[in-house]
Amino acid sequence: KNYGLNELRKMYLEFFESKAHLKMNSFPLVPKNDKSLLLINAGMTPLKPYFTGQEVPPSKRVTTCQKCIRTGDIDNVGKTQRHGTFFEMLGNFSFGDYFKKEAIAWGWEFVTKVLQIPEERLYVSVYLDDDEAERIWHEDIGLPKEKIVRLGKEDNFWEHGTGPCGPCSEIHYDRGEAYGCDSPDCQVGCDCDRYMEFWNLVFTQFEKTEDGEYLPLDFPNIDTGMGLERLALMMQEVDSIFDVDTIQALLQKVCALAGVTYNDDSVKDISIRVITDHMRSVTFMISDGILPSNEGRGYVLRRLLRRAARHGKLLGIEDKFLAKLCETVIEVSKDAYPELVEKKDYITKIITLEEDRFNETIDQGLGILKSYMEEMDKEGKRELTGDRAFKLYDTYGFPIDLTKEILEEKNLTVDESGFNHEMEKQRTRAREARAESNYMGSAETIYHKIDPSITSAFVGYDHLTYTSPIR
Ligand code: ATP
Ligand code: MG
Ligand code: MG
Ligand code: MG
Repeated sequence: KNYGLNELRKMYLEFFESKAHLKMNSFPLVPKNDKSLLLINAGMTPLKPYFTGQEVPPSKRVTTCQKCIRTGDIDNVGKTQRHGTFFEMLGNFSFGDYFKKEAIAWGWEFVTKVLQIPEERLYVSVYLDDDEAERIWHEDIGLPKEKIVRLGKEDNFWEHGTGPCGPCSEIHYDRGEAYGCDSPDCQVGCDCDRYMEFWNLVFTQFEKTEDGEYLPLDFPNIDTGMGLERLALMMQEVDSIFDVDTIQALLQKVCALAGVTYNDDSVKDISIRVITDHMRSVTFMISDGILPSNEGRGYVLRRLLRRAARHGKLLGIEDKFLAKLCETVIEVSKDAYPELVEKKDYITKIITLEEDRFNETIDQGLGILKSYMEEMDKEGKRELTGDRAFKLYDTYGFPIDLTKEILEEKNLTVDESGFNHEMEKQRTRAREARAESNYMGSAETIYHKIDPSITSAFVGYDHLTYTSPIR
């Protein structure tokens, strides 16, 4: 049946409320007291203190729909049919209460009874040694053995450093041959869009020690995560998460602003999907108090905004357009996230400021990058030098990944270690300048333009690290 995304969210939460779960609101995207994480990336991460026993949960059974950001999936966006940097994760959790048997039975009940997804389409995976999970799927649920696939640690064992961890079991949906790839081993676990993983049931039954030992927990936990957009994709029988009702509304707005039609040109389609996805992330990040900056999560935000702005250029959008898109995000998400409505003016203002700022340099930067590329072409070089990439970053506000993406479109690369070296040099200069200005009792140095708050290097989006000035 064709349920809307907002309706599916409600059905899920109500189902688990009927199984005695306490419904809690989504936590903000900014983790609280968790230095190991830049942004909330799963339903369980804000609940960690309940899993470790550090805090007492308000109920032993909880259900949530959690807003998530996974910048690690940024390169998949627009390319696969099932990844966004922003998505909502539905989850039911047991803190030392029910375990595998109930988690599996309720998951199956929701999918096959409530949603009535045909069983023929469903497959499950279990961890290599998890005979117990396999037995439950086979004996209790009645799933034939050939529909249960055993997968290794990478896919079916959840652990994050030390602490609570355990095997998991994932439910997959066969979208049909048309979505498959050419690989002869295309089956559950394949990376293509055919067998789509949509629900991960994690059985947190061990405590991993510093020595790498797995000790069984006295009270094992359950942590499940189902992508709401993927669920809507299945129920609405559409091609990708971008065709799901609420997201489609935003995508159509992008097309209207650009004066283009979706599904007309595969290269333009990628830009349309990138803008659509990134504006969802951006709107929610700003509503949770993140501001564009040169470090940490602020830099993630800046990078998403600037990448969306550049893809707007690719679609031929001349005027400012990003702020107009957040209106649609708010419109379709406001029932579940009323805070968006309250903050609408604020979100619009922040996006506009950042877009104005980047607009001052983007055209010039793109022109310069183009001339670098022409020069490389003439000289038969394939790699942009680190100092040129650094100039684009420092003077024109081009995040390194943006430069890299533009080069990749022409099969060119960038000397990233050279870039990092330039960054390091600048940091040293800034430090020396600070020391000198303190010594001389003056803030005036030739480096006065450099942001004095620079402390460390940006090395990735999933860890708390920092970077240096970008305009
Ligand atoms: P995949 O293998 O498809 O990248 P995953 O194994 O990384 O997914 P989990 O960490 O198990 O995903 O998260 C639980 C669920 O959240 C997934 O089964 C999926 O439905 C959803 N999900 C994960 N990443 C994304 C994403 N980038 N966009 C949309 N939904 C996602
Ligand atoms: Mg993934
Ligand atoms: Mg997976
Ligand atoms: Mg998974």
